[in-house]
Amino acid sequence: LQGLMQQTPLNVCQILDHAAKWHPEQLIISKQVEGPVLSLTYAELHKRSKLCAIALQKLGVSSGSFVATLAWNTSRHMEAWYGIMGCGAICHTLNLRLSVKDLIYIANDAQDELVLADATMVPLLEKVLPGVPSIKHVILLTDRLNMPPPSVLAALPPTVGLHCYEDLLGAAAQEAAPGGPPGSALGAFRWTQVDENAACGMCYTSGTTGNPKGVLYSHRANYLHALLLVQADSLPLSGSSCCLAVVPMFHANSWGLVFAAPMVGARLVLPGPYLDGPSIYNLMEQYGVTMSAGVPTVWLALLAHCEEQGLTFSSLKIACIGGAAAPMSMLEAFEVKHGVEVRHLWGMTELSPLGTLGNPKPASLGGRTRPPGRLPPAGGSGSGSGSAPSASASAHASPAAPSFTASYLTAKLKQGRPHVLCDMRIVDDAGRELPHDGQTVGHLQVRGPATVAAYFKAPGPATVGDSWFPTGDVASIDAWGNMQITDRSKDVIKSGGEWISSIEIENLAMGFPGVLEAAVVAVPDDRWGERPLLVLVPKPGVEGDAELREGVVDYLSSKLAKFAVPDDVVFVPQIPHNATGKVSKLTLRDMFKNHRAP
Ligand code: ADP
Repeated sequence: LQGLMQQTPLNVCQILDHAAKWHPEQLIISKQVEGPVLSLTYAELHKRSKLCAIALQKLGVSSGSFVATLAWNTSRHMEAWYGIMGCGAICHTLNLRLSVKDLIYIANDAQDELVLADATMVPLLEKVLPGVPSIKHVILLTDRLNMPPPSVLAALPPTVGLHCYEDLLGAAAQEAAPGGPPGSALGAFRWTQVDENAACGMCYTSGTTGNPKGVLYSHRANYLHALLLVQADSLPLSGSSCCLAVVPMFHANSWGLVFAAPMVGARLVLPGPYLDGPSIYNLMEQYGVTMSAGVPTVWLALLAHCEEQGLTFSSLKIACIGGAAAPMSMLEAFEVKHGVEVRHLWGMTELSPLGTLGNPKPASLGGRTRPPGRLPPAGGSGSGSGSAPSASASAHASPAAPSFTASYLTAKLKQGRPHVLCDMRIVDDAGRELPHDGQTVGHLQVRGPATVAAYFKAPGPATVGDSWFPTGDVASIDAWGNMQITDRSKDVIKSGGEWISSIEIENLAMGFPGVLEAAVVAVPDDRWGERPLLVLVPKPGVEGDAELREGVVDYLSSKLAKFAVPDDVVFVPQIPHNATGKVSKLTLRDMFKNHRAP
């Protein structure tokens, strides 16, 4: 028997329709690539997205077209997303940090027809476009005043039509209202209606093993995924949030923020290309940001800025950290020093991208929930937290009773619990399911309606067995359902038959005074096969010398099993990061492939 409910297909453009109708006054505050800040309402952004769709249709974009973007987080980029998806086309976000070779590969693979790019991307386009003959038009996301000079534009291939975004929108407004005031006939424009399972977005994985692989999001998956972000255990976004979207729109669907914020009428702050500590801090303070989401690298820079300048946050309540493991020192800085609650998230491009949400169940914390404001410093033993020796008050607490802060932060170090759209399990090498005891480590597999079924153009499914997607991560799951990543399977260090978790060592090392950033990679070893090498960046003003080396190793020896303690520590001025802002283990392994322990 069928239910008798309406079968409205889920389409992401409905989200913007909703925002324009019910949250028309709410602001999007966008730092433009050119520098100045632009504020517009959801009603205005809705109208401009429709004008963008009209302009794109005039250039031949239709259902099923692949349209690329190459841009930072700005309101024009957001309009482009909705404009493209509103034509029934597929918004293919190009990661502007990728190499020219990779960009050419993925734009060809997708057969992109048009690219909307920041004006600052012309030098990159100059190198990429000759390798992508399918791209017939370039729209620069700026106004006439800020268009690059003809001498710069002359470097682009003459076969490609070059357009100024604001000119196109102006022309579309005139067209929508011939003879009348600009935009008055826009009401007649309708988003192209497509099936809810039709593709609307595309993002490539980083391709650290082989060529990048295309993940093709549907309207339905993006819509459902956005609903997750407004759940209380999630980010959570609400009508009273002011959200700074630090995570780039070209990285894993911007974690769904561009869909979820208009869904609830949250104020949205878009930082443009300005992701350094001072810029992020200033935006937060100036616009009353209450929550934000990004990778650890960005938070590291922000917290360092706060520390250097003696600053704290006046409005920030929640910091969502994902994309790589949040170290304990970062959790402590946010939760104890600044009174900002951390939501640790785990996800993947293939999952739209969120998989787990880090809000521990009260039952797992002895029935208690986090009190508002700053948490007291972690006391008590048994936290296993890796907190910095100087920050620990363990000497004063009963060994039997770790403080609430210690238990809470230890729980937060885990990557969180699966949400309703993400079933999850760990399996052994033979695919047998492993217990949820918080100890047993296995290959993490997930499935659900916002998880990839097959990669773009791949001959077979991306899943095994009954729709299980092998994540390539190695993890444990505890009795409360908290998942903890110990490594990516390709980063696991296998030493004399034991698996050593690089994340655990990194977390501990980052908590040692004087250490700014830490990464651990496997280096070949004649006796053990592989051994962990600890690569450290000292804090500004701290010497990377024998004293620091010994201090870190002694500290790790007191916390880790003997076999897991790195035999050697090297200091570098900076750790290489990949296109998504994460530590590039591939580059590090390459840098130290000939390194031998002393
Ligand atoms: P890529 O880094 O390959 O471009 P993603 O951005 O989709 O792809 O990254 C997904 C991977 O990032 C996960 O498989 C996992 O290894 C890692 N990751 C994401 N969030 C976390 C987290 N909170 N803790 C540890 N690792 C994480």
